[in-house]
Amino acid sequence: MRAFKRSPWVIHYDASSCNGCDIEVVASFTPLYDLERLGVINTGNPKHADIFLVTGSVNAQNVKVIRTIFEQMPEPRAVVAVGICATSGCVFRECYNVMGGVDTVLPVDLYVPGCAARPESIIDGVLQAAELLEKKRAFMRAMHGDIGMMAIERAFAGDAPEILALQKIVYSNEAEIYNDYTLTPLRQSLDELRKDFETRTFLKAVMGGKIVGSVRGRLEGETADIGWLIVHPYFWGRGIGTRLLGAIEECFPSARRFMTFMGEKARYTMAPFQNMGYAPFRQERISEHRERVYFEKKRQG
Ligand code: SF4
Repeated sequence: MRAFKRSPWVIHYDASSCNGCDIEVVASFTPLYDLERLGVINTGNPKHADIFLVTGSVNAQNVKVIRTIFEQMPEPRAVVAVGICATSGCVFRECYNVMGGVDTVLPVDLYVPGCAARPESIIDGVLQAAELLEKKRAFMRAMHGDIGMMAIERAFAGDAPEILALQKIVYSNEAEIYNDYTLTPLRQSLDELRKDFETRTFLKAVMGGKIVGSVRGRLEGETADIGWLIVHPYFWGRGIGTRLLGAIEECFPSARRFMTFMGEKARYTMAPFQNMGYAPFRQERISEHRERVYFEKKRQG
C-alpha cells in the first residue's frame, strides 16, 4: 500500500469468459473481500481507468472492443489478464474462433493465474498493477524532455519480451487505421521474435532502463533489409526513429543499398525513413484494403 499514492481505478471487461472469473472479480470489489477499502474503484469509463482487468480469451468478435478500451485509457496504464483463459486461451486456444490470451493483442503487465482466479489473487494482481503504475508514472516524468539521455544499443534475445510488448503497442495504431488486427507484428509470438534474433541485428533505444524504441535489419547481398521501426507513441516526433535508423545503417558497413516496406498509411513510420533519404520505388496491393510501399536508399560514396 505504501507503494502507491493515488486511488487506482479499474475497468473490467469480460472478453469471452464463462463468467467464473467475472464473478470472482465482482467478489473482489464487494464487502467480503472489498478492494474498495484500499481505495480501488471499479469504473465503467476507460477514460477514467488506470488498470484494465480482462477475463476470458480474445476472439474476432471482442478484439476490437479490447483494443478500443485500451486505446481510450490514459497513460500510464496497466493491463491485467485474469484467469487462465485471459492468460493463454486455456483449453479454448485451439478453437477456430479463439485468437489466444489477451497478450495476443495487448501488452499484458500482469497475469493472475487460476480457473477461476481467486479473489485474493485478483486483489494481489490489482495491487501489483497499482505499484507498477507508480513506477511507470515516475519513469514518464523523468523521461519527459530528457531525450539526450537516451542510449541506442544492440538488443539481444533477452530483450524480446520488452520489444514484443512495445511492438504490439505501436502496431495496434496501424491495425486501427486499417481495421485489421491480423498484422504480422501484432500476431508474432515471443518464440518467433526470439528466433528472429538468430538471423537479424536488433537495436534498442533505452531511456531510464526501459526500451522505448527498436529496429531490426538483415544483410542480403549488398542490400540491408531494414524493418519494424518502432517507437513508443509517447515519444513520437522527437527524433528517436531517425536516430535508430542512422544506427542500424552503421551496423551494415558493406551494404550499398537499404530497403524497407510499410503500409501506405503508416505515416508515423514513414517520416523517419523520409528524413533519412529513403524514397519510394514500388507499391503493391496486398489485400482489399491495404497497399504496401517499398522504400530504398543508395549509400553515397
Ligand atoms: S479461467 Fe476458468 S473460470 Fe475463468 S473464464 Fe476461463 S474457464 Fe471460466
